Amino acid sequence: AGEGATIDGKAVADQIRKEISASVALMKGKHGQVPGLAVVIVGERKDSQTYVRMKRRACAEVGFRSFDCDLPGDSTQQEVLDAVAKFNANPHVHGILVQLPLPKHIDEEAVLAAISVDKDVDGFHPLNIGKLAMKGREPLFTPCTPAGCLELLDRIGADLRGKRAVVVGRSNIVGMPVAMLLLKRNATVTICHSASVDMASIVREADVVVAAAGQAQMIKGSWIKPGAIIIDVGTNPIDDASRKLGYRLVGDADFDSCKKVAGAITAVPGGVGPMTIALLLKNTLTSAERFYEGKVSG
Ligand code: NDP
Repeated sequence: AGEGATIDGKAVADQIRKEISASVALMKGKHGQVPGLAVVIVGERKDSQTYVRMKRRACAEVGFRSFDCDLPGDSTQQEVLDAVAKFNANPHVHGILVQLPLPKHIDEEAVLAAISVDKDVDGFHPLNIGKLAMKGREPLFTPCTPAGCLELLDRIGADLRGKRAVVVGRSNIVGMPVAMLLLKRNATVTICHSASVDMASIVREADVVVAAAGQAQMIKGSWIKPGAIIIDVGTNPIDDASRKLGYRLVGDADFDSCKKVAGAITAVPGGVGPMTIALLLKNTLTSAERFYEGKVSG
């Protein structure tokens, strides 16, 4: 018995960032160039601005060039497409990220499809998503949060082949791509969503649970098979009068009761969150390496 281990995503992410900094120094020495990431934000959403600020700061810290494009919330679709086209044509830009969600009047699908597929470091271009879903094909880039989940599983030595994996959530940015990645690694994958019935008994079958529903503390320890690994993507604010801001962030798993049963569980915050940015940097580095060194890798 005893308690499961807490998976420290921040420590893993710091390690990845160190590896990336070293690769940037090498690239600078060999080619006199560094990776460049363009981050496009449309509108003034506070959460989006925070994420964009974090991404730009992370770029600077590992020695990337950061290209900023901040468009007002009433920009036209054409203005957003023009910004993407400009970065598509810029040889110093190796990755283009358009922060989601976009304002309602802009067609997200059209914007994501306009990003050059070999600069699609978020991995949301329909061609990259399509290859992710196909057997025997590999996308040029894999979405960062799902890739971060798999990286955490790999770094703790989880063996996925033939294991039962349950993903809670089917969004285009987390649930669906993480399920595809688990399937590529030969897990037997079940996807739950808001119409699923008796989720507790489905989750109880899982050797690996990936929680991405955005429902605070929904998954209880009594749902967890002893020894299972829980990767908790959920980041939900709940009231907490003892905190300065009056709230704190919790995952989709009820951490205390789950930790008693699980083999390992990610911290929230400090689990999947920091991995997302680390994987964005890694995708951008990979893109720049392909560009300058003709390296083609998975
Ligand atoms: P969405 O709201 O887009 O998707 C939520 C998914 O969960 C949907 O598929 C929905 O089902 C399903 N769902 C919602 N409620 C339930 C329920 N009660 N039972 C079963 N399934 C349910 O969220 P995202 O995928 O964008 O994000 C999920 C969580 O991950 C959020 O907490 C978000 O903050 C966090 N997140 C964290 C990131 C990070 O750490 N870097 C990055 C991105 C997200 P249906 O499809 O039927 O509606």
